Amino acid sequence: MFGAEAYGVDVRVAEEDTERLLSVTPADVSATSALTFARNVFVPLTTACRYTCTYCTYYDPPGQASLLSPEEVRDICERGADAGCTEALFTFGDDPDDRYTRVHEQLDEWGHDSIHSYLREACEIALDCGLLPHANPGDQTREQMELVADVNASMGVMLETTAEIQAHGGPRSKEPGQRLATLATAGELGVPFTTGILVGVGEDWRDRAESILAIRDLHEQYGHIQEVIIQPVVNNERWQSGSPDNETMRRVTAMARWALPESVGVQSPPNLAPVRDLLDCGIDDLGGVSPVTDDHINPEYAWPALRELEDIAEEAGVPLRERLPVYEHYVEDGWLSPRIEAALDADDAAGERFRDCLG
Ligand code: SF4
Repeated sequence: MFGAEAYGVDVRVAEEDTERLLSVTPADVSATSALTFARNVFVPLTTACRYTCTYCTYYDPPGQASLLSPEEVRDICERGADAGCTEALFTFGDDPDDRYTRVHEQLDEWGHDSIHSYLREACEIALDCGLLPHANPGDQTREQMELVADVNASMGVMLETTAEIQAHGGPRSKEPGQRLATLATAGELGVPFTTGILVGVGEDWRDRAESILAIRDLHEQYGHIQEVIIQPVVNNERWQSGSPDNETMRRVTAMARWALPESVGVQSPPNLAPVRDLLDCGIDDLGGVSPVTDDHINPEYAWPALRELEDIAEEAGVPLRERLPVYEHYVEDGWLSPRIEAALDADDAAGERFRDCLG
């Protein structure tokens, strides 16, 4: 389904499950008993992207795209570690294509034949600085993901939607089937994975239900989805079509909570979503907060201070707990690579910081 079969991936969503999910409302779910968040630094490794999604301000066209140097990566990571972060959140476009000659020339000069090869070096730098890498390099083939899986605590990519939408259109459009294949690859490789849906980009209610159920189906096959982000699209210099209203966000958030197992977090990003209006819809995670870097994906929407998260938790009447970029049950169940295990066990300040976030 959804074009995933072209990538050899079997994703099944039953019509009766879709129908049932479409009838779910906030009254069908319970509020969480605790909220979690992670302390991260954004490391925008490159702003090159082979796609041109119409709601996205992250990517820069060829000739204008940035590529952080190893020194810049180290500087950001050191500042993050000094500020008490646990996570280096590597953000990307999607695998830069041949149009990005400058990016490829620079990578070549640094001894890398691909952005994934460079990502591996960047993750090593983050680990060296005392941070756990979580990379989001867009769609990945098995070979690409294999190259970096053992130096990441977890990885992610937004599914966004299983629907073919115009906002992904144009000469270079990303395909839902390929995103689902990336999710399946993470499952096959045993990588704890974050994904999510983007609400308000031209999908309808059935698409939302099917997107959530497609994620659930892959999680049932592999057990690797740690959290699902329910993110509204927001206005920016490339997208002027507005955001979904609060009722839409309430219903779709409740649908995700209802459909997904309890062990899968439902995350609402407070700098983009009306989190206070979603507290009774089953959200249990507030995503990452960064004391030292901007949210480079949505630079016009500043991350709320930690204080704001505390206020939200207080309003919900539940405790706020800091977590690692990898959810605790994956640590306990032995999903991590020896390299990441060693970082967690390290007898140093970073190891202590990591262990403080484990129950
Ligand atoms: S949303 Fe992601 S894939 Fe689409 S243009 Fe932006 S960076 Fe590229």
